[in-house]
Amino acid sequence: MKSFVNYAENSDFSIHNIPFGVAVFGQEYIACATRIGDIVIDIATLYDFGYLNEIEGLDDNVFEAYTLNEFIELGKPVTNAVRLKIQELLLEGSALSGDTKSVDECFYTLNQVKMMMPVHVPNYTDFYSSIEHATNVGKMFRDPANALLPNWKHLPVGYHGRASSIVVSGTDIIRPKGQTKPADADFPVFGACKQLDFELEMAFIVNKNTEMGESISTADAEDAIFGMVIFNDWSARDIQSWEYVPLGPFLAKNFGSSVSPWVVTLEALDSFRTASPVQEPEVLDYLKFEGDKNFDINLEVYLQPENGTETLISESNYKFMYWNMTQQLAHHTVNGCNVEVGDLYASGTISGENPNSFGSMLELTWRGQNPLKLNDGQERKFIEDNDTVIMRGFAEKNGIRLGFGEVTGKILPAV
Ligand code: MN
Repeated sequence: MKSFVNYAENSDFSIHNIPFGVAVFGQEYIACATRIGDIVIDIATLYDFGYLNEIEGLDDNVFEAYTLNEFIELGKPVTNAVRLKIQELLLEGSALSGDTKSVDECFYTLNQVKMMMPVHVPNYTDFYSSIEHATNVGKMFRDPANALLPNWKHLPVGYHGRASSIVVSGTDIIRPKGQTKPADADFPVFGACKQLDFELEMAFIVNKNTEMGESISTADAEDAIFGMVIFNDWSARDIQSWEYVPLGPFLAKNFGSSVSPWVVTLEALDSFRTASPVQEPEVLDYLKFEGDKNFDINLEVYLQPENGTETLISESNYKFMYWNMTQQLAHHTVNGCNVEVGDLYASGTISGENPNSFGSMLELTWRGQNPLKLNDGQERKFIEDNDTVIMRGFAEKNGIRLGFGEVTGKILPAV
């Protein structure tokens, strides 16, 4: 497939991708968008020019919207058809390629747009599905000999997170304050977090509403998943270690999480499917699944100090996940919990086996014991004020490449 839009060979936004997002075009016009190379396309105007007329079930201009929710709720038959039609329109020799008026009105360069949150997120859940991450954390905080708790290999452990503080890439995050208890103190103290961390995660977005009492099977789960984003689940480790027993994370997590602005569809990722790690012991029937449900997505984390350069500090891969998305959604709903359009389900920190593939500062520095060296000679145990964390993700196979772009966030001093 060759597009009439030129882009770099290593672009995440190749003709094979066609992701969806929401952009502010120019001063104040907002609409659903897609991207090829460094061109952002206004889909609402493309619709108005009649280019999506032949798609059944697309009766209204759902792209004239501040979120993708209305579009993705139309379900896979419609959203897939739209994606494939846009892909066809971007090929060399297409009707659109010769229509300079439409191209002029629908195509924008990156510096003409600002990306917004792609969806309204009614509910956010964070899983804990990387065996390497769960093992590392268990070793550090509990018992090195029994790092995984007895339930871990029987169910995808998760907790309900906070949807209100999920923000799009580029949004600054203010260092949280809270209670911590220094190891040598009898009582807790209040102040700015001293062990601020990132968590390298991916998240999937659900495209339907279900009724209470209804469950989604592993076989049906992918139909309910519109696509994926990269997710930085910022974490305050000192606050976390004091507050998390017995009910799990609370203020250590709910001050902010960042998402990449482009939702990459499961259909775009289809060529990058891969087998899951073998699950032993065997899981209960409702968690069994068929086919390749993992995806080979390279993930990178960079840390950039104020006025400095980026240092690559972690290289991981989504394929390391022990529990896959279909199992996560089946487990989440097996008790009759309803889901809503736009719900966001994050993977949990994605660590690999090698120390350079760990998905958090907590693991990379082993709770601050082995500071990271940055390119300019500075060291980091945790994230400092005015540091920017950048996560990137892409898949590449047989000459085909597509990706997520990046999710960035800068830490501002506590107020
Ligand atoms: Mn997390």
